[in-house]
Parts: sequence; C-alpha cells; structure tokens
Amino acid sequence: MTTTLHLYNTLSRTKEVFTPIDANNVRMYVCGPTVYDFAHIGNARPIVVFDTLYRLLKRHYPKVTYARNITDVDDKILARAKENGVSIKELTVGTTKMFHQDMDHLNALRPDHEPRATAYIAPMIALTQTLIDKGFAYEAEGHVLFSVQSMADYGKLSRRTRDELIAGARVEIAPYKKDPADFVLWKPAPEGGEGWDSPWGYGRPGWHLECSAMADDLLGTTFDIHGGGLDLIFPHHENEIAQSACAHDGAPPANYWVHNGFLTVNGEKMSKSLGNFFTVHELLDETSGEAIRLSLLQSHYRQPCDFTKDNLAQCKATLDKWYGALRNVKDTPTSTATTPEAVEAALLDDLNTPLAIAHIHELVGELNRATTNEAKAELKAALLAAGEALGLLQQDAEAWFKSGGAVSGLSDAEIDAQIAARLAAKKAKNFIESDRIRDALAQQGVILEDSAAGTTWRRG
Ligand code: AMP
Ligand code: ZN
Repeated sequence: MTTTLHLYNTLSRTKEVFTPIDANNVRMYVCGPTVYDFAHIGNARPIVVFDTLYRLLKRHYPKVTYARNITDVDDKILARAKENGVSIKELTVGTTKMFHQDMDHLNALRPDHEPRATAYIAPMIALTQTLIDKGFAYEAEGHVLFSVQSMADYGKLSRRTRDELIAGARVEIAPYKKDPADFVLWKPAPEGGEGWDSPWGYGRPGWHLECSAMADDLLGTTFDIHGGGLDLIFPHHENEIAQSACAHDGAPPANYWVHNGFLTVNGEKMSKSLGNFFTVHELLDETSGEAIRLSLLQSHYRQPCDFTKDNLAQCKATLDKWYGALRNVKDTPTSTATTPEAVEAALLDDLNTPLAIAHIHELVGELNRATTNEAKAELKAALLAAGEALGLLQQDAEAWFKSGGAVSGLSDAEIDAQIAARLAAKKAKNFIESDRIRDALAQQGVILEDSAAGTTWRRG
C-alpha cells in the first residue's frame, strides 16, 4: 500500500512527492475568510478541501499544526461596520461566530490556530520595518510600499510578465509609487477611523502583510503547505512570498503552494460582487451540512465545481443511501477500522476525492450484499472509516433519518412560535394537541426539553 502523499504544487506546476520539513510536525497555513457577512459556499470550498487534507495529514503524521486566519480588518469590514453603526470588533465577533457555526455543520475540524489579524499588528509593524531596513520597502506619504524591482524573482508563483503584473495588480497608479506594481504594506487611516499607531503614522496594515506576519509567528520562517483559492495566487500569495522571503534572506514561507479551483454557477465564479451566491447558512435551512460537504468533494479540488440545487438534492439522496446501508446493520462495530486502502490511495494521490467517493459507493454495494454478520460488521467499520476520512457519515444513522438530513427546515422564530402554541395547548389542558406539536417538532429534528424554568430546544 502506498503511503506517499503527492500534491500538486502551484510553484512548479507539477504533482510532487510531499516531503515535510519535520515529519514530527507538519505545518499548514490556509488563508481564511474576511468576516463581514455570511460565508457563501464558494468560501466554504477551501475550508472543506483543506479540512480533508488536514484529516489525511493527521492520519499519516504524529502532529499537524494547522493555522487558518480570520481577516477582521479591511475595507469591506469597515464599510459594513459603518453601515450597521457598530465597531469593527462588534461586527467581526458576530460574523466570526456565524462562520464557525456554518463550518461546524460542514464537519470542518477547527484549525489548531485561528489568528485574528487585529491581534498581530505588532509583528506586522516589525515585518514592515525589517523590509525597510533591508532595502525592500520604502515610505511615501504615510504609506509603506514594497518595491517589486528590489526582488529579482518577483512573480515566480503566478509566472506573470511584468505587464501582466501591473495590469493584474489593479493597483492604483499613485504618484508616490516608484513602480506601478509596488504594493502597500502599510497605509494611512483617517484620524478617528480604525487604525493603529506606527513609525509611519496612524494607519492600517495591507492584507498581504497580515498573512505573512501571522504565518511566520505561528508556523516559523518556512513551513510545509500554504493553501487557498485559485484567486489568491496573484496578487495575495505572490506578495506574501515577496514579503516573507525578502525579510528572511530568501527563505520561502512555504514549500508547497496548494490552490483549490472555483465553485461556479453556470460556469461563472460564485462571488458576492456578482450576486450569484448562496450562503451556507441559507442552504442549511434546506439540507444538511453533510450534503453540502459531499457536493463540494464530488469534484477534484483543482477542477471547477459547478453548483446546482439539483446536485445538492442528489448528494442528500446519496447520503440517504449510505446511511440506510449503515442503519441496516444493527451491531455497531467494536473496533475502528483504518481507512480502506483504495480510499486512502485515492486521497494520497493529490486528494482525489471523486475517486474516493466512487470507492465508497462500491463499499456500500458490498455492505448491502453482505450475508454474514461478520462481513457486515467489517464492512460497516470500513464504511465509517472511509466516511471519517471525508468528514462524512459520522452521525448516528437513526438521527440522520429522524432529522430528514436537514439541520431543520424551521427557522428559530417558527420553532419559538410552535413552543408558544404548545404551551397554550397545555394550559388549555389540550394534551393531545401539545403532544402532537412536540412530536411534529421531533420529526423535524427539533428536540424539546421541559424544565421548571420553561421549555428549551435543540436541533437533534
Ligand atoms: P474571501 O473571504 O473572499 O477572502 O475568500 C476566502 C477564501 O474563499 C479564499 O481562499 C478564496 O480563494 C476562496 N473563494 C472565494 N470565492 C470562491 C469560489 N467561488 N470558489 C472557490 N473558492 C473561493
Ligand atoms: Zn492570506
């Protein structure tokens, strides 16, 4: 059985054997969300893809350190906070919580570190100062800019020509820039606006600087894997490489650069600006997080993944079939199996999730055809292990069917209204009606708990 992981490295544009710097501690950094609103399922794609890679690495190495940041200061956040009349802290505490809830429903494990950009201002200022001291950055009109001409191999990740770099950067041709492709490390903020004191005046860090400083602080000068969506190759990751390598005498921030393809709608990238998005939150009202996760893993992570509600419904039906096969075997396996060889081999080959899913279909077929209790128990254990590798099938099968596979089709307000109606029925001593309401809610995965203090509920 192969145990070698192959990963496609954007830096070399080839699939490479993965060799960690320290096999006792594999380190991975993934660019996380900018938290100004609910995450859409395009944003969820890197979360699910890199969670599957994290799970795989954890099975093969004794320790994996996974850091994924929260960008909690940027123009969109500032604009939204102003619109809502709240501070950025108030806004981002709420949106971060929403993000966590949604990603938990997708069975994404929490990373080991989840740094918030605003907690790393001091290392960002220090990094900027280092770049100035070493001659890679300059100050101009309250801005600090990285000088791309000072770095001989700037552009090696995206492989863009100089003209493409300038056009693609979409950077303002500001008079204070020495070169139009120079990018901001630090920029001034208006008095009274959100900002921090720095040697260059009151201001804010640039987005690229944030990730360089946080990754360096948490994972060291050079770590193993840096991930994110395809759109981050340029300028974000190109500029992270420039900042980190120039600050550390050429040492690159990461050895393997891994990028997921886009989640598309009718062939177009799903994005907030195009308005062609579905939030994870709204989809959870209709279906389960597991069905969303399966729909994201059906395509190979480097291919585009076209989203349709029909496909989501098919994923839900597939999970019904899989959970049905599990439910038919009454005995719960006593020992946990290792991931079936074919599934693991597929995942080790550059995270080939569609092939892994095809093997799960075969396993389910075998389980349904199995005749002896021994074979059934063994196949059930194998199926549960395969499911765990993909972050699927970890619920109790009965609970899955009871909830209809959905978190609950009911909104919180609708549930509260039902609880009030049940209380009224009880007061009127109409116990048939109050029981009917409780049972109807249970059918939809909402469990009521009565106590002296009143009735509380939870989603089962
Ligand atoms: P953002 O919150 O826009 O900074 O994006 C967070 C992460 O989601 C980044 O890794 C992006 O590359 C990724 N992302 C955004 N839109 C999509 C999409 N439509 N498909 C796949 N990944 C996306
Ligand atoms: Zn980043």
